[in-house]
Amino acid sequence: MLTDHFRPQSFNGIDDIVIVGGGLAGLFCALKLAPRPVTILAAAPIGHGASSAWAQGGIAAAMSPGDTIDKHVADTLVAGAGIVDEKMTRMMVAEGPARIHDLLEYGVPFDRDLEGKLILSREAAHSERRIVRVKGDMAGKAIMEALIAAVRKTPSIRVLEGYVVEDLVREGRFIAGVIARPDAGQSKKRVSFPARAVILCSGGVGHLFAVTTNPTEACGQGVGMAARAGAIIADPEFVQFHPTAINIGRDPAPLATEALRGDGAQLINSAGRRFMLDIHPDAELAPRDIVSRGVFAEVQAGRGAFLDCTKAVGKHFPDMFPTVYASCVAAGIDPVTQAIPVVPAVHYHMGGVLTDAAGRTSIDGLWAAGEVTSTGVHGANRLASNSLLEAVVFAARIAENIKGMLPEPKITDWGGNAGENDDPVTLEDSPALKRLRLVMSENVGVIRSRESLTRAIREISTLERENTRLRFTNILATAKLMAAAALQRTESRGGHYRSDWPEPRAEWKHRSFLTLADAERIIAEVTELEPA
Ligand SMILES: Cc1cc2nc3c(=O)[nH]c(=O)nc-3n(C[C@H](O)[C@H](O)[C@H](O)COP(=O)(O)OP(=O)(O)OC[C@H]3O[C@@H](n4cnc5c(N)ncnc54)[C@H](O)[C@@H]3O)c2cc1C
Repeated sequence: MLTDHFRPQSFNGIDDIVIVGGGLAGLFCALKLAPRPVTILAAAPIGHGASSAWAQGGIAAAMSPGDTIDKHVADTLVAGAGIVDEKMTRMMVAEGPARIHDLLEYGVPFDRDLEGKLILSREAAHSERRIVRVKGDMAGKAIMEALIAAVRKTPSIRVLEGYVVEDLVREGRFIAGVIARPDAGQSKKRVSFPARAVILCSGGVGHLFAVTTNPTEACGQGVGMAARAGAIIADPEFVQFHPTAINIGRDPAPLATEALRGDGAQLINSAGRRFMLDIHPDAELAPRDIVSRGVFAEVQAGRGAFLDCTKAVGKHFPDMFPTVYASCVAAGIDPVTQAIPVVPAVHYHMGGVLTDAAGRTSIDGLWAAGEVTSTGVHGANRLASNSLLEAVVFAARIAENIKGMLPEPKITDWGGNAGENDDPVTLEDSPALKRLRLVMSENVGVIRSRESLTRAIREISTLERENTRLRFTNILATAKLMAAAALQRTESRGGHYRSDWPEPRAEWKHRSFLTLADAERIIAEVTELEPA
């Protein structure tokens, strides 16, 4: 039995904004809310444990002379495979250039040419050069360094690092605060943070799967927590696999950025054959799901897949892509002269907590921004470099919405004791999480079927019966939503591929919206219909 010692407190005398997560979405939102007091609770020290710091490509924004909002929207719609929310996308794309200027003001050193103009690069499935980068593949690190410095200089922002939030506190229709466990989740003590506004910015779900490019903190806690509190979750079945994670057995798997293919690197198998030419007219620059399945097929067939950068990048590799270069060299591969072994890895979750244009979820008092959300701008497949854009655009919109909605606080109460319990085991070491990751990769991965999804659902149910930990309950809730939505969607679209339904179907040309109760109903039906 899970024990919960928290006594919900009323708003009396308490007026606070709590941001869960210190990645790009969380930090940007806190800065935009300043001088309004906010508390950021981050599972790891900010700058660590966040996908934002690892972003290699950059941010997409229609800023080059030949580019337009319409072109950026059109590319996003195509990538999203028919179910992108066009209105939300147009709004995001239109606000992109202004948010890039905000980032410049916070001190982000985006690459510029000799005249001082921003250099815009091209990436797969973008029809124009529109990615702002930093020193080739250093965008995420540089953006986070600049924002962390800005946050540290802003007295209204309190950052509590190593606080793992494991529960949202619901009082009637409102979210009234969060419960967190300090010491990177290792403490027996649990702390309550009553709040008038909770902004969920807890990132993605990569660590629900065995092979991922995401940091360990990206394990779907946010989606699970919100779903347990009753929030509507959208499109949880849509997972983007990055086709070119470096296949050297590291967890998380380092990434060979898309920009390498943008610069002409080619995918070959062990026989030297350029296999993507047979699969899509755009070959290596085809949408990510198609390239992922191409790479997956070569790896499954035992031929292996390799990214050959020797001609396209060659001796410029160390200068142009220092992060990828360092990962390769550490594994004994010299990408200047050798092809890099690659494998698809879970990279990005298009689904998440449903929000509106102001970042509001379906529960009062709970907002969400960044990868934990599903705003509708990615549809069934994210266009590369649109996720950092989404994080800043919606984080800024949340700040505006909260400023307009909640009056300035008079008193702040920085939290209180929420009791103790025996739940502080490092999740990464837990055999149950390891088992879940294998189950998800094998059955809810690049290729799915009714059979594999039913298998996953049974395994998840077994893990749930054996579980006694709240954080793992969150993770299992996210896994259930993903598997149930994938089972329900009897078609293939974008990042969701069903071998038993390999084509898109007109009746499924829409987003999925479900609560945890809906997912549990789907799960109960399949387990009753097909007993083990
Ligand atoms: C290797 C890599 C490269 C990428 N490259 C690009 C790119 O070039 N362009 C692009 O647009 N996108 C890219 N992406 C995707 C993009 O980085 C992410 O979608 C984006 O950074 C998400 O930002 P975020 O703030 O939502 O989440 P994150 O940056 O992941 O931050 C989440 C924060 O929440 C914290 N957290 C998690 N759970 C809890 C909890 N329970 N309690 C408290 N804190 C918690 C984490 O520690 C972290 O501080 C890349 C992703 C990866 C992994």
